[in-house]
Amino acid sequence: MWSPESWRAKPAKHIPDDYPDQAALAEVERTLAAYPPLVFAGEVRTLKERLARVSAGEAFLLQGGDCAESFAEFSADKIRDTFRVLLQMAVALTYGAAMPVVKVGRIAGQFGKPRSSPIETQGDITLPSYRGDNINGMEFTEEARIPDPERLLKAYGQSASTLNLIRAFAKGGYASLRNVHRWNLEFASGPQNERYMEIADRISDAMAFMDACGLSGFNSRQLNEVEFYTSHEALLLGYEQAMTRTDSTSGDYYDTSGHMVWIGDRTRQLDGAHIEFCRGIKNPIGMKCGPTLEPDELIKLLDVLNPDNEAGRIVLIARFGTEKIAQHLPALVRRVQQEGRTVVWSSDPMHGNTIKADNGYKTRKVSSVLGEVEQFFDLVRAEGAYPGGVHFEMTGQDVTECLGGLQTITEDDLSERYHTHCDPRLNANQALELAFTLAEELKA
Ligand code: PEP
Ligand code: MN
Repeated sequence: MWSPESWRAKPAKHIPDDYPDQAALAEVERTLAAYPPLVFAGEVRTLKERLARVSAGEAFLLQGGDCAESFAEFSADKIRDTFRVLLQMAVALTYGAAMPVVKVGRIAGQFGKPRSSPIETQGDITLPSYRGDNINGMEFTEEARIPDPERLLKAYGQSASTLNLIRAFAKGGYASLRNVHRWNLEFASGPQNERYMEIADRISDAMAFMDACGLSGFNSRQLNEVEFYTSHEALLLGYEQAMTRTDSTSGDYYDTSGHMVWIGDRTRQLDGAHIEFCRGIKNPIGMKCGPTLEPDELIKLLDVLNPDNEAGRIVLIARFGTEKIAQHLPALVRRVQQEGRTVVWSSDPMHGNTIKADNGYKTRKVSSVLGEVEQFFDLVRAEGAYPGGVHFEMTGQDVTECLGGLQTITEDDLSERYHTHCDPRLNANQALELAFTLAEELKA
Protein backbone atom coordinates (compact mmCIF):
# COMPACT_ATOMS: atom_id res chain seq x y z
CA MET A 1 0.00 0.00 0.00
CA TRP A 2 1.37 3.37 -0.98
CA SER A 3 1.22 6.38 1.33
CA PRO A 4 3.24 9.62 1.29
CA GLU A 5 5.48 8.01 3.92
CA SER A 6 5.65 4.42 2.66
CA TRP A 7 9.14 5.18 1.25
CA ARG A 8 10.45 5.28 4.84
CA ALA A 9 10.34 1.47 5.03
CA LYS A 10 12.60 1.11 1.96
CA PRO A 11 16.38 1.44 1.58
CA ALA A 12 17.18 5.06 0.74
CA LYS A 13 20.40 6.22 -0.89
CA HIS A 14 21.78 9.77 -0.74
CA ILE A 15 19.46 10.95 2.02
CA PRO A 16 21.47 12.16 5.03
CA ASP A 17 21.05 10.07 8.17
CA ASP A 18 23.39 12.15 10.29
CA TYR A 19 21.15 15.02 11.38
CA PRO A 20 22.33 15.54 14.95
CA ASP A 21 18.78 16.23 16.14
CA GLN A 22 16.15 13.96 14.54
CA ALA A 23 13.36 15.55 16.57
CA ALA A 24 14.24 18.96 15.14
CA LEU A 25 14.12 17.51 11.62
CA ALA A 26 10.68 15.99 12.25
CA GLU A 27 9.47 19.32 13.62
CA VAL A 28 10.65 21.13 10.45
CA GLU A 29 8.89 18.55 8.29
CA ARG A 30 5.65 19.12 10.23
CA THR A 31 6.03 22.86 9.73
CA LEU A 32 6.55 22.40 5.98
CA ALA A 33 3.52 20.13 5.75
CA ALA A 34 1.40 23.02 7.03
CA TYR A 35 2.86 25.58 4.60
CA PRO A 36 1.05 26.47 1.36
CA PRO A 37 1.76 24.34 -1.73
CA LEU A 38 4.20 25.87 -4.24
CA VAL A 39 2.35 24.58 -7.31
CA PHE A 40 -1.22 23.46 -7.93
CA ALA A 41 -2.56 20.15 -9.15
CA GLY A 42 -4.30 21.77 -12.13
CA GLU A 43 -0.98 23.18 -13.39
CA VAL A 44 0.68 19.80 -12.98
CA ARG A 45 -2.10 18.18 -15.02
CA THR A 46 -1.61 20.77 -17.78
CA LEU A 47 2.11 20.00 -17.88
CA LYS A 48 1.26 16.32 -18.21
CA GLU A 49 -0.97 17.11 -21.19
CA ARG A 50 1.87 19.11 -22.76
CA LEU A 51 4.30 16.21 -22.21
CA ALA A 52 1.77 13.82 -23.73
CA ARG A 53 2.01 15.94 -26.88
CA VAL A 54 5.79 15.65 -26.73
CA SER A 55 5.52 11.86 -26.50
CA ALA A 56 3.36 11.96 -29.63
CA GLY A 57 6.07 13.88 -31.50
CA GLU A 58 4.05 17.11 -31.63
CA ALA A 59 6.13 19.26 -29.29
CA PHE A 60 9.63 19.47 -27.80
CA LEU A 61 10.72 19.59 -24.16
CA LEU A 62 13.33 22.12 -23.04
CA GLN A 63 14.44 21.55 -19.44
CA GLY A 64 17.31 23.48 -17.91
CA GLY A 65 18.82 25.43 -15.07
CA ASP A 66 21.43 25.25 -12.33
CA CYS A 67 23.00 22.00 -11.20
CA ALA A 68 22.28 23.24 -7.71
CA GLU A 69 20.55 26.42 -6.63
CA SER A 70 22.22 28.08 -3.68
CA PHE A 71 21.43 30.60 -0.98
CA ALA A 72 24.41 32.73 -1.99
CA GLU A 73 23.55 32.90 -5.71
CA PHE A 74 19.99 34.04 -5.09
CA SER A 75 18.83 37.32 -6.61
CA ALA A 76 16.15 38.71 -8.90
CA ASP A 77 18.74 39.32 -11.62
CA LYS A 78 19.94 35.73 -11.60
CA ILE A 79 16.40 34.35 -11.78
CA ARG A 80 15.59 36.75 -14.62
CA ASP A 81 18.73 35.84 -16.54
CA THR A 82 18.09 32.09 -16.34
CA PHE A 83 14.48 32.68 -17.33
CA ARG A 84 15.36 34.83 -20.30
CA VAL A 85 18.00 32.49 -21.70
CA LEU A 86 15.44 29.70 -21.56
CA LEU A 87 13.01 32.00 -23.42
CA GLN A 88 15.68 32.78 -26.01
CA MET A 89 16.45 29.09 -26.47
CA ALA A 90 12.74 28.37 -26.80
CA VAL A 91 12.39 31.08 -29.46
CA ALA A 92 15.32 29.61 -31.42
CA LEU A 93 13.72 26.15 -31.20
CA THR A 94 10.14 27.20 -31.88
CA TYR A 95 11.12 29.37 -34.81
CA GLY A 96 13.69 27.00 -36.26
CA ALA A 97 11.70 23.81 -35.88
CA ALA A 98 8.19 25.29 -36.13
CA MET A 99 7.18 23.32 -33.09
CA PRO A 100 5.74 24.18 -29.65
CA VAL A 101 8.36 24.05 -26.89
CA VAL A 102 7.45 22.95 -23.37
CA LYS A 103 9.60 25.02 -21.01
CA VAL A 104 10.64 23.48 -17.69
CA GLY A 105 13.23 25.07 -15.38
CA ARG A 106 15.59 23.19 -13.09
CA ILE A 107 14.64 25.89 -10.63
CA ALA A 108 12.65 26.85 -7.52
CA GLY A 109 13.59 23.70 -5.58
CA GLN A 110 16.77 22.22 -7.12
CA PHE A 111 18.98 22.15 -4.01
CA GLY A 112 19.85 18.65 -2.78
CA LYS A 113 22.70 16.76 -4.47
CA PRO A 114 23.69 13.10 -4.54
CA ARG A 115 27.48 12.99 -4.24
CA SER A 116 29.91 10.43 -5.61
CA SER A 117 31.71 10.32 -2.27
CA PRO A 118 30.24 10.95 1.22
CA ILE A 119 33.55 12.51 2.29
CA GLU A 120 35.89 15.13 0.92
CA THR A 121 39.57 15.57 1.71
CA GLN A 122 41.61 18.77 1.45
CA GLY A 123 45.23 18.51 2.58
CA ASP A 124 45.15 16.38 5.70
CA ILE A 125 41.58 17.26 6.66
CA THR A 126 38.64 14.99 5.78
CA LEU A 127 35.06 16.21 6.20
CA PRO A 128 31.59 15.06 5.13
CA SER A 129 30.83 16.19 1.55
CA TYR A 130 28.72 19.22 0.74
CA ARG A 131 25.23 17.91 -0.10
CA GLY A 132 23.36 21.00 -1.27
CA ASP A 133 22.31 24.19 0.50
CA ASN A 134 19.11 22.61 1.83
CA ILE A 135 21.24 20.13 3.82
CA ASN A 136 24.63 21.59 4.78
CA GLY A 137 27.06 24.36 3.87
CA MET A 138 29.70 24.43 1.12
CA GLU A 139 32.34 26.03 3.34
CA PHE A 140 35.08 23.52 4.19
CA THR A 141 34.60 23.51 7.97
CA GLU A 142 33.35 20.84 10.32
CA GLU A 143 30.51 23.05 11.46
CA ALA A 144 29.25 23.95 7.98
CA ARG A 145 29.10 20.29 6.95
CA ILE A 146 26.71 19.28 9.75
CA PRO A 147 23.18 18.79 8.31
CA ASP A 148 20.84 21.49 9.60
CA PRO A 149 17.05 21.04 9.22
CA GLU A 150 16.45 24.81 9.33
CA ARG A 151 17.99 24.89 5.85
CA LEU A 152 14.88 23.13 4.52
CA LEU A 153 12.72 26.06 5.60
CA LYS A 154 15.10 28.48 3.92
CA ALA A 155 15.03 26.41 0.72
CA TYR A 156 11.22 26.41 0.79
CA GLY A 157 11.23 30.19 1.20
CA GLN A 158 13.70 30.69 -1.64
CA SER A 159 11.70 28.35 -3.88
CA ALA A 160 8.50 30.26 -3.11
CA SER A 161 9.99 33.66 -3.94
CA THR A 162 11.73 32.31 -7.04
CA LEU A 163 8.46 30.85 -8.26
CA ASN A 164 6.65 34.07 -7.47
CA LEU A 165 9.03 36.07 -9.65
CA ILE A 166 8.88 33.50 -12.45
CA ARG A 167 5.09 33.62 -12.44
CA ALA A 168 5.26 37.42 -12.65
CA PHE A 169 7.70 37.27 -15.58
CA ALA A 170 5.71 34.56 -17.36
CA LYS A 171 2.29 36.16 -17.02
CA GLY A 172 2.96 39.83 -16.33
CA GLY A 173 4.26 41.06 -19.67
CA TYR A 174 8.02 40.37 -19.53
CA ALA A 175 7.64 37.17 -21.55
CA SER A 176 5.45 38.81 -24.19
CA LEU A 177 6.81 38.14 -27.68
CA ARG A 178 6.70 41.91 -28.08
CA ASN A 179 9.75 41.95 -25.80
CA VAL A 180 11.67 39.43 -27.87
CA HIS A 181 14.57 41.89 -28.45
CA ARG A 182 14.84 42.73 -24.77
CA TRP A 183 15.56 39.17 -23.68
CA ASN A 184 19.00 39.54 -25.13
CA LEU A 185 21.64 39.68 -22.43
CA GLU A 186 23.94 42.66 -22.03
CA PHE A 187 27.11 40.58 -22.45
CA ALA A 188 25.69 38.52 -25.33
CA SER A 189 28.08 38.30 -28.25
CA GLY A 190 29.01 36.17 -31.21
CA PRO A 191 27.26 34.66 -34.21
CA GLN A 192 24.57 32.86 -32.18
CA ASN A 193 23.55 36.25 -30.93
CA GLU A 194 23.34 37.81 -34.34
CA ARG A 195 21.20 34.86 -35.36
CA TYR A 196 18.95 35.43 -32.39
CA MET A 197 18.54 39.13 -33.25
CA GLU A 198 17.63 38.18 -36.83
CA ILE A 199 14.84 35.91 -35.62
CA ALA A 200 13.72 38.59 -33.16
CA ASP A 201 13.50 41.08 -36.06
CA ARG A 202 11.41 38.67 -38.09
CA ILE A 203 9.07 38.00 -35.19
CA SER A 204 8.65 41.76 -34.60
CA ASP A 205 7.94 42.29 -38.30
CA ALA A 206 5.31 39.58 -38.26
CA MET A 207 3.65 41.16 -35.24
CA ALA A 208 3.74 44.64 -36.77
CA PHE A 209 2.05 43.17 -39.83
CA MET A 210 -0.64 41.55 -37.71
CA ASP A 211 -1.15 44.81 -35.82
CA ALA A 212 -1.53 46.71 -39.08
CA CYS A 213 -4.10 44.23 -40.33
CA GLY A 214 -6.01 44.60 -37.08
CA LEU A 215 -5.90 40.86 -36.59
CA SER A 216 -7.89 40.09 -33.50
CA GLY A 217 -5.58 37.33 -32.30
CA PHE A 218 -2.51 39.49 -31.88
CA ASN A 219 -3.20 40.34 -28.26
CA SER A 220 -3.86 36.77 -27.31
CA ARG A 221 -2.38 34.99 -24.33
CA GLN A 222 -0.18 32.90 -26.62
CA LEU A 223 1.76 36.00 -27.61
CA ASN A 224 1.77 37.84 -24.31
CA GLU A 225 2.34 35.07 -21.80
CA VAL A 226 4.33 31.86 -21.57
CA GLU A 227 3.73 28.64 -19.74
CA PHE A 228 6.76 27.93 -17.62
CA TYR A 229 7.06 24.94 -15.31
CA THR A 230 9.44 24.07 -12.46
CA SER A 231 11.31 20.86 -11.70
CA HIS A 232 13.97 19.41 -9.43
CA GLU A 233 15.38 16.05 -8.40
CA ALA A 234 13.13 14.34 -5.83
CA LEU A 235 16.11 13.48 -3.66
CA LEU A 236 15.27 14.56 -0.12
CA LEU A 237 12.12 12.54 0.38
CA GLY A 238 11.32 13.99 3.82
CA TYR A 239 10.88 17.39 2.16
CA GLU A 240 8.95 15.94 -0.80
CA GLN A 241 6.65 14.04 1.55
CA ALA A 242 5.96 17.20 3.54
CA MET A 243 5.01 19.00 0.30
CA THR A 244 2.71 16.19 -0.89
CA ARG A 245 -1.01 17.00 -0.64
CA THR A 246 -4.28 15.43 -1.67
CA ASP A 247 -5.93 17.29 -4.53
CA SER A 248 -9.42 18.29 -3.51
CA THR A 249 -10.89 17.83 -6.99
CA SER A 250 -9.51 14.36 -7.80
CA GLY A 251 -8.50 12.91 -4.43
CA ASP A 252 -5.10 12.10 -5.93
CA TYR A 253 -1.72 12.88 -4.33
CA TYR A 254 0.46 15.57 -5.89
CA ASP A 255 3.92 16.60 -4.82
CA THR A 256 3.41 20.36 -4.73
CA SER A 257 7.12 21.24 -4.39
CA GLY A 258 7.40 21.58 -8.19
CA HIS A 259 5.47 20.69 -11.32
CA MET A 260 7.77 17.86 -12.34
CA VAL A 261 10.32 15.91 -10.31
CA TRP A 262 12.92 13.44 -11.45
CA ILE A 263 14.71 10.43 -10.02
CA GLY A 264 18.50 10.53 -10.30
CA ASP A 265 20.66 7.86 -11.86
CA ARG A 266 21.97 6.98 -8.39
CA THR A 267 18.58 6.56 -6.70
CA ARG A 268 16.49 4.61 -9.22
CA GLN A 269 16.70 1.19 -7.45
CA LEU A 270 13.56 -0.83 -8.14
CA ASP A 271 13.02 -1.63 -4.46
CA GLY A 272 14.37 1.68 -3.17
CA ALA A 273 12.75 4.61 -1.41
CA HIS A 274 12.81 7.04 -4.34
CA ILE A 275 10.90 4.78 -6.72
CA GLU A 276 8.44 3.97 -3.92
CA PHE A 277 7.75 7.65 -3.24
CA CYS A 278 7.44 8.67 -6.90
CA ARG A 279 5.09 5.87 -7.89
CA GLY A 280 2.33 7.33 -5.68
CA ILE A 281 2.37 10.97 -6.76
CA LYS A 282 0.59 12.07 -9.93
CA ASN A 283 3.23 14.53 -11.17
CA PRO A 284 5.14 13.88 -14.37
CA ILE A 285 8.23 11.90 -13.36
CA GLY A 286 11.62 12.09 -14.98
CA MET A 287 14.07 9.24 -14.62
CA LYS A 288 17.75 9.50 -15.46
CA CYS A 289 19.02 6.54 -17.49
CA GLY A 290 22.77 5.90 -17.22
CA PRO A 291 25.15 3.15 -18.39
CA THR A 292 24.19 0.63 -15.70
CA LEU A 293 20.49 0.51 -16.64
CA GLU A 294 19.47 -2.71 -18.43
CA PRO A 295 16.39 -2.93 -20.69
CA ASP A 296 14.64 -5.51 -18.45
CA GLU A 297 15.08 -3.34 -15.41
CA LEU A 298 13.80 -0.29 -17.27
CA ILE A 299 10.58 -2.10 -18.15
CA LYS A 300 10.15 -3.20 -14.53
CA LEU A 301 10.65 0.39 -13.41
CA LEU A 302 8.04 1.58 -15.92
CA ASP A 303 5.64 -1.11 -14.62
CA VAL A 304 5.97 0.41 -11.15
CA LEU A 305 6.03 4.08 -12.09
CA ASN A 306 3.46 4.05 -14.87
CA PRO A 307 1.33 0.89 -14.67
CA ASP A 308 -1.44 2.41 -16.82
CA ASN A 309 1.01 3.59 -19.50
CA GLU A 310 -0.35 7.12 -19.17
CA ALA A 311 1.03 9.54 -21.78
CA GLY A 312 2.95 12.50 -20.31
CA ARG A 313 3.74 10.69 -17.06
CA ILE A 314 7.31 9.55 -17.81
CA VAL A 315 10.32 11.39 -19.19
CA LEU A 316 13.32 9.11 -19.69
CA ILE A 317 16.44 11.24 -19.53
CA ALA A 318 19.40 9.58 -21.24
CA ARG A 319 22.78 10.56 -19.69
CA PHE A 320 25.50 8.27 -20.95
CA GLY A 321 28.28 10.52 -22.20
CA THR A 322 29.29 11.03 -25.80
CA GLU A 323 31.60 7.97 -25.68
CA LYS A 324 28.98 5.59 -24.32
CA ILE A 325 25.59 6.60 -25.65
CA ALA A 326 25.81 4.54 -28.85
CA GLN A 327 26.59 1.44 -26.82
CA HIS A 328 23.68 1.74 -24.36
CA LEU A 329 20.77 3.82 -25.62
CA PRO A 330 19.55 1.82 -28.66
CA ALA A 331 18.70 -1.32 -26.63
CA LEU A 332 16.66 0.73 -24.16
CA VAL A 333 14.71 2.58 -26.83
CA ARG A 334 14.12 -0.63 -28.79
CA ARG A 335 12.75 -2.42 -25.76
CA VAL A 336 10.45 0.46 -24.79
CA GLN A 337 9.15 0.49 -28.39
CA GLN A 338 8.62 -3.28 -28.42
CA GLU A 339 6.69 -3.13 -25.16
CA GLY A 340 4.52 -0.32 -26.49
CA ARG A 341 5.34 2.07 -23.63
CA THR A 342 4.56 5.73 -24.08
CA VAL A 343 7.43 7.89 -22.84
CA VAL A 344 9.22 11.11 -23.65
CA TRP A 345 12.87 10.49 -24.58
CA SER A 346 15.06 13.38 -23.47
CA SER A 347 18.83 13.89 -23.55
CA ASP A 348 20.93 15.10 -20.62
CA PRO A 349 24.27 15.55 -22.39
CA MET A 350 25.90 16.98 -19.25
CA HIS A 351 26.27 14.28 -16.60
CA GLY A 352 28.07 11.65 -18.70
CA ASN A 353 30.57 14.22 -19.95
CA THR A 354 32.11 15.60 -16.77
CA ILE A 355 35.91 15.70 -16.80
CA LYS A 356 38.65 17.11 -14.59
CA ALA A 357 40.80 19.77 -16.22
CA ASP A 358 44.56 19.64 -15.63
CA ASN A 359 44.22 22.55 -13.22
CA GLY A 360 41.73 20.58 -11.11
CA TYR A 361 38.46 22.20 -12.22
CA LYS A 362 35.50 19.93 -12.85
CA THR A 363 34.37 20.86 -16.35
CA ARG A 364 32.64 19.73 -19.56
CA LYS A 365 33.48 20.33 -23.20
CA VAL A 366 30.76 21.96 -25.28
CA SER A 367 31.89 19.68 -28.11
CA SER A 368 31.13 16.56 -26.00
CA VAL A 369 27.76 17.98 -24.99
CA LEU A 370 26.92 18.61 -28.62
CA GLY A 371 28.33 15.23 -29.63
CA GLU A 372 26.04 13.42 -27.22
CA VAL A 373 22.89 15.32 -28.25
CA GLU A 374 23.53 14.76 -31.93
CA GLN A 375 24.00 11.03 -31.41
CA PHE A 376 20.88 11.00 -29.23
CA PHE A 377 18.76 12.36 -32.09
CA ASP A 378 20.14 9.83 -34.57
CA LEU A 379 19.99 6.81 -32.26
CA VAL A 380 16.44 7.44 -31.05
CA ARG A 381 15.22 8.03 -34.59
CA ALA A 382 16.95 4.89 -35.84
CA GLU A 383 14.74 2.88 -33.46
CA GLY A 384 11.62 4.54 -34.86
CA ALA A 385 11.07 6.66 -31.74
CA TYR A 386 10.94 10.42 -31.26
CA PRO A 387 13.81 12.38 -29.64
CA GLY A 388 11.56 14.65 -27.63
CA GLY A 389 13.66 16.82 -25.37
CA VAL A 390 16.85 18.05 -23.79
CA HIS A 391 17.95 18.58 -20.19
CA PHE A 392 20.78 21.07 -19.64
CA GLU A 393 22.72 22.45 -16.71
CA MET A 394 22.98 26.09 -17.63
CA THR A 395 22.75 29.61 -16.33
CA GLY A 396 21.97 33.06 -17.68
CA GLN A 397 25.25 34.32 -16.22
CA ASP A 398 28.47 34.82 -18.14
CA VAL A 399 30.29 32.08 -16.23
CA THR A 400 33.39 30.17 -17.36
CA GLU A 401 32.64 26.60 -16.31
CA CYS A 402 32.38 24.60 -19.57
CA LEU A 403 35.13 24.49 -22.21
CA GLY A 404 34.84 25.63 -25.80
CA GLY A 405 31.90 26.91 -27.74
CA LEU A 406 32.09 29.78 -30.20
CA GLN A 407 33.39 31.87 -27.31
CA THR A 408 36.27 29.33 -26.98
CA ILE A 409 36.62 29.14 -23.20
CA THR A 410 39.94 27.45 -22.38
CA GLU A 411 41.24 25.65 -19.29
CA ASP A 412 43.05 28.83 -18.29
CA ASP A 413 39.76 30.75 -18.42
CA LEU A 414 37.96 28.41 -16.00
CA SER A 415 39.18 30.19 -12.86
CA GLU A 416 37.81 33.56 -14.11
CA ARG A 417 34.14 33.07 -13.26
CA TYR A 418 33.67 29.56 -11.93
CA HIS A 419 30.67 30.02 -9.62
CA THR A 420 28.73 26.75 -9.64
CA HIS A 421 27.88 25.07 -6.34
CA CYS A 422 28.21 21.65 -7.90
CA ASP A 423 28.55 20.73 -11.60
CA PRO A 424 29.80 23.04 -14.41
CA ARG A 425 27.01 24.81 -16.32
CA LEU A 426 26.75 26.10 -19.86
CA ASN A 427 26.84 29.90 -19.86
CA ALA A 428 24.23 31.97 -21.69
CA ASN A 429 26.15 32.16 -24.98
CA GLN A 430 26.94 28.44 -24.99
CA ALA A 431 23.32 27.57 -24.19
CA LEU A 432 21.95 29.69 -27.02
CA GLU A 433 24.52 28.26 -29.42
CA LEU A 434 23.31 24.76 -28.54
CA ALA A 435 19.68 25.75 -29.03
CA PHE A 436 20.42 26.80 -32.61
CA THR A 437 22.15 23.51 -33.33
CA LEU A 438 19.17 21.67 -31.85
CA ALA A 439 16.74 23.63 -33.99
CA GLU A 440 18.64 22.34 -37.03
CA GLU A 441 18.46 18.77 -35.70
CA LEU A 442 14.72 19.07 -35.12
CA LYS A 443 14.13 20.28 -38.65
CA ALA A 444 16.06 17.32 -40.05
C1 PEP B 1 21.83 16.02 -11.73
O1 PEP B 1 20.93 16.09 -12.58
O2 PEP B 1 22.33 17.03 -11.18
C2 PEP B 1 22.37 14.68 -11.40
C3 PEP B 1 22.96 14.43 -10.25
O3 PEP B 1 22.24 13.81 -12.42
P1 PEP B 1 22.39 12.23 -12.50
O4 PEP B 1 21.40 11.67 -11.53
O5 PEP B 1 22.05 11.96 -13.92
O6 PEP B 1 23.81 11.93 -12.16
MN1 MN C 1 24.53 18.06 -11.85
